[in-house]
Amino acid sequence: MSLVSALKDALASGDGGADAVRYRCGECGTGFDRARTRMVRTRCPDCGSADLRVVEEP
Ligand SMILES: [Zn+2]
Repeated sequence: MSLVSALKDALASGDGGADAVRYRCGECGTGFDRARTRMVRTRCPDCGSADLRVVEEP
């Protein structure tokens, strides 16, 4: 199992322990997930921008 599929499984089941939040970069539009507890100093993995928007998914 790849790391990506493992992460998706954890998010889908909702019992992974880490409360993940989806962000979207305001600079390049890249979407990515981070644990809520690590939202401090979270930066875009693609361009390094700190201009991030939290995306709430239903
Ligand atoms: Zn970016």
